[in-house]
Amino acid sequence: MKPIVDATHDPARRSWVESANAADSDFPIQNLPFGRFRAAGDGGWRIGVAIGDQVLDLRQAGCVDHADMARLLQQPAAERLALRRAISDGLTSGSPQQAAWRAALRPMADVQLGLPCDIGDYTDFYVGIHHATAVGKLFRPDNPLLPNYKWVPIGYHGRASTIRPSGHGFVRPMGQLKGPDDAAPLLAPTQRLDLELEVGIVVGRPNAMGESIPIAEAEDHVFGLTLFNDWSARDVQAWEYQPLGPFLAKNFASTISPWIVTLEALAPFRKPFARGAGEPEPLPYLDSADNRAHGAFDVGLEVWLQTAAMRAAGHAGERIASSNFADAAYWTVAQLVAHHTVGGCALNSGDLFGSGTLSGPQRDQAGSMLELSEGGKRPITLHNGEQRTFLLDGDRITLRGHCARDGLRRIGFGDCSATVLPAP
Ligand code: MN
Repeated sequence: MKPIVDATHDPARRSWVESANAADSDFPIQNLPFGRFRAAGDGGWRIGVAIGDQVLDLRQAGCVDHADMARLLQQPAAERLALRRAISDGLTSGSPQQAAWRAALRPMADVQLGLPCDIGDYTDFYVGIHHATAVGKLFRPDNPLLPNYKWVPIGYHGRASTIRPSGHGFVRPMGQLKGPDDAAPLLAPTQRLDLELEVGIVVGRPNAMGESIPIAEAEDHVFGLTLFNDWSARDVQAWEYQPLGPFLAKNFASTISPWIVTLEALAPFRKPFARGAGEPEPLPYLDSADNRAHGAFDVGLEVWLQTAAMRAAGHAGERIASSNFADAAYWTVAQLVAHHTVGGCALNSGDLFGSGTLSGPQRDQAGSMLELSEGGKRPITLHNGEQRTFLLDGDRITLRGHCARDGLRRIGFGDCSATVLPAP
């Protein structure tokens, strides 16, 4: 199915919510991402759409008659599109809904943003080929990329219970650490705390157990994308990961951005999925003409670090890396859905996929400290003279994402941010 670009993407369309028309807003009327919020006195989560610096309460505006995000996620594509068009029309300058909908706006700064949906299951993939190669080199200099990498999307089933929305700090985890010359491991706080720059993929419509999702229908089952930081303890990981893969090194905390940017909003920012000459063709169940024509998403990604010293000095932090989803990923979202279900696995609404760390080929495109510091061997130096190999207590990492193209309104993902708190 070809992504649909329509009047909701028209860069000339402006909103009566004035803050949405600011050139630097992540949430112009062309975006309209979905999330959950609550204000003081609210009983439960409400469904909201971000518009400028405001949140539109969808139920109060009469766009939906419930506050159940799982129900929204299950909508067929045609209903999703109709809802997007209704919200866009109502927020457009001169809309007859303006007077009624103004009462359904809440300043984003005044509400609490929660997880965008209840996340039942979480799978983390490994689609960043530059990351996989760079990390592989640290462990296997002569053979960085294992032979399965270019044939099967690599992943593992992760832990949904410790995924938190942006703004929630987390405690530096304890774990078993063992240096190469130590006779035995010891239990201690991780000394190699890392971030992972990832895109989160939110499952929309479910499939029944035993019924695989063909690649041609895969995107019907995806509601949208978020930013995702898969915090990792590299010393714990090195000791525990063989033979079954990541475990406690990854299950202590992950941070997700509060807004799901829908596939409809991302329609004008698609790219052909192409691999270099000499790369193997995907197996037929991972291949389609549509996937080749526009399977990739052109999303610019950034990692920002604000140390405790920067915060004390009133400095907002500095960008330590930037990359792009389309350039970094060896597999597309549609391929991940088709592969995940090919054996009959059931996906549920609100399930989350992490893309895997999305690093580019250059040093300043690395989406983890492991790569930025070459496995901890070469510290990076920050503008104020501080150095980092891995993260210290008080460090705040913020992931940012945006889509920008000539002739289109730039849209953003909002911040995915959390601060490292000291071990107890
Ligand atoms: Mn990861």
